[in-house]
Amino acid sequence: MADKRDYYEVLGVDKNADEATIKKAYRQLAKKYHPDLNPGDKTAEAKFKEVNEAYEVLSDSEKKARYDQFGHAGVDPNFNAGGGSGFGGGFGGFDDLGDIFSSIFGGGFGGSGTRRSNPNAPRRGADTVISLTLSFEEAAKGCTKEINVSHVETCPDCNGSGAKPGTSVKTCGECGGTGQVTSTQRTPFGVMQTQHQCSRCGGKGKFVETPCPKCGGRGRIRVTKQQSVNVPAGIDDQQVLNVRGQGDAGINGGPAGDLRIEVNVRPHPIFERDGFDVYCEVPVTFVQAALGAEISVPTLDGNVKFKIHEGTQPGDEFKLSGKGIKRIQGSGRGDQFVKITVEIPKNLSNAQKDALRSFESMTNDQNYKKRKSFFDKIKDMF
Ligand SMILES: [Zn+2]
Ligand SMILES: [Zn+2]
Repeated sequence: MADKRDYYEVLGVDKNADEATIKKAYRQLAKKYHPDLNPGDKTAEAKFKEVNEAYEVLSDSEKKARYDQFGHAGVDPNFNAGGGSGFGGGFGGFDDLGDIFSSIFGGGFGGSGTRRSNPNAPRRGADTVISLTLSFEEAAKGCTKEINVSHVETCPDCNGSGAKPGTSVKTCGECGGTGQVTSTQRTPFGVMQTQHQCSRCGGKGKFVETPCPKCGGRGRIRVTKQQSVNVPAGIDDQQVLNVRGQGDAGINGGPAGDLRIEVNVRPHPIFERDGFDVYCEVPVTFVQAALGAEISVPTLDGNVKFKIHEGTQPGDEFKLSGKGIKRIQGSGRGDQFVKITVEIPKNLSNAQKDALRSFESMTNDQNYKKRKSFFDKIKDMF
């Protein structure tokens, strides 16, 4: 954790940067280091993770505020990963942030090294994060995907108690079930009382005499399940689908975490996307451009016919209204923008060259107005 970089530095933005600036910086970097564009590049992959992590915090006003005040400690779930001796620390050691802050602020003069939070307090389960790669069309149109999710569930055999079914959980005799022991010490300044976490039960106040064989006494087991997810039409690269309550089970009756599905969209060979609009380029021959033609244009709904007019120029653009991507929130679809490129023929035969030369000899300034005005301007210069 010590060598973690500052999140603002990671995104290359100023500490006072506004939401839009942070988002823009994130999008640029995420694109740059995207695993799809840097296959097998471990450095890029690490950068990609770092950038995502920074953005996750800085894009969330609540997390950002905590980060601004406390740095990484304010937002890192592993910050409290100290002792972990009791069997509560079995999975990931996720301690609720509330506990961290109550121990920072509420600690006072309570005593030495006893700031560990109550191991019996309900805690929210950790979020389960998986990434899901979609094709351009799947993201645009929506799809159902089967995913394998590995997460922690409450052990069904012991219902989370950790005790073998039919056996019971015993109260700790050392602390009488409170999880805390008080020791009294005589010092030159008077009698000092300090409270410690009970070392016998690890602060839980109880013991499992015969551990549940299924979960080994932890009360929780990791399971991998196949699950189908409905991906809504219109989702974009870098967006996260949050499925509430499908992450790790909560501890001591706390709520379950969420399942967070990070979406990666593979680039398309023809289409590009900006928001809900789709962009593509369609090459035509110079004769089609000169004479006008009916051309076939690919769209998300299949090919459509489109008439380009006589004298179409390279770079001319037209719009197919409503042929873009379905808006993920709200109704309707974006548009498709088609840019014409003109392909100049190569590998001409002698007969073809002759035909073009004779065509050229029949043209004049009326046919090439742009060219004429260009040379007129040059003449004016001298
Ligand atoms: Zn069990
Ligand atoms: Zn005890």
